[in-house]
Amino acid sequence: MGEFDLIEAIRARTALRRDDVRLGIGDDAALLAPPPGHLLASSIDTLVEGVHFPVGTAPEDLGWKALAVNLSDLAAMGATPAWALLALTLPAADARFVERFADGFAELARMHSLALVGGDTTQGPLSISVAVHGFVPAAAALTRAGARAGDLLLVTGTLGDAAAGLACLDRQHVRADALLAAPSGTREALLARLNRPTPRVAAGQALRGVASACIDVSDGLLADLGHLCTAGGVGAEIDAATLPLSSALLTLFDDDARTGFALAGGDDYELCFSVAPERAAAVTADLARLGCGVTRIGRIVAASGVRVRGADGRELAPPRRGYEHFAR
Ligand code: ADP
Ligand code: MG
Repeated sequence: MGEFDLIEAIRARTALRRDDVRLGIGDDAALLAPPPGHLLASSIDTLVEGVHFPVGTAPEDLGWKALAVNLSDLAAMGATPAWALLALTLPAADARFVERFADGFAELARMHSLALVGGDTTQGPLSISVAVHGFVPAAAALTRAGARAGDLLLVTGTLGDAAAGLACLDRQHVRADALLAAPSGTREALLARLNRPTPRVAAGQALRGVASACIDVSDGLLADLGHLCTAGGVGAEIDAATLPLSSALLTLFDDDARTGFALAGGDDYELCFSVAPERAAAVTADLARLGCGVTRIGRIVAASGVRVRGADGRELAPPRRGYEHFAR
């Protein structure tokens, strides 16, 4: 099986009709028609084996995750996903791997009516880059900038699950007795969050014109909230006791470990956003209607930096920061 058979397998398995795709996979470039009055939101992310996912991750999960991490970036901008490009670097022309990868990718793509319109297929160490494009009405995009002192800080879903799932795989911090005693499916729930993150696309769109600033949590809450604060020229205070934690995380990890995962673990793909206090209740109700839980975790303050307060109100020493390439 050669390069072009692999491309055909991907094309066939991801096929989805969109009128705005005038020419998709098969020519030298795709021809695409963005809707008038909208800006194109574009983003790209790469997953490298052993860096962004453990060796041995199921191909279906990789296909899903490679797209999910990109859709999460579009969600953070309030954009509606439309098109994607896929650059696949594979050690060998493994047809079964490519088919399974494409199936996982297609499963998530169909949920968002997203068309794969092109890509590149090369040989080398396993690495996956996905570029996504979405639409956002001009002037309605959410950005990292715009948070104001006095705004409340909210986050969707729960934090720390993916990092906890990874710790389960590595058998780190996890209490063996808790693992044995836990209801079946507890560990699997955390692994599902690691391998099949849910990009908060509908929530992001609902936050347009409402959130003053928004970012997706990919490198860990402290790191990403730090970016939001820097962009807005503000700071933030987090109340550690209010961090939303899943029952699986509570079951398997002690207080220190789970707070560390929630603050600094990566791969959550939840949205962290600021909102004027008078709008918080309406936002929470709107997101709940979309089936998206949301929790108030703190507030924006004038002084720069991100501080974390414990239940007693005292400042906690920050855990290790989020993942950063080329650090050290
Ligand atoms: P070129 O050599 O002109 O860059 P390629 O031979 O790399 O073209 O690709 C042929 C067609 O297949 C192009 O339309 C390209 O976008 C598409 N393609 C290649 N690899 C992939 C992939 N992994 N996923 C989706 N489309 C792909
Ligand atoms: Mg090429």
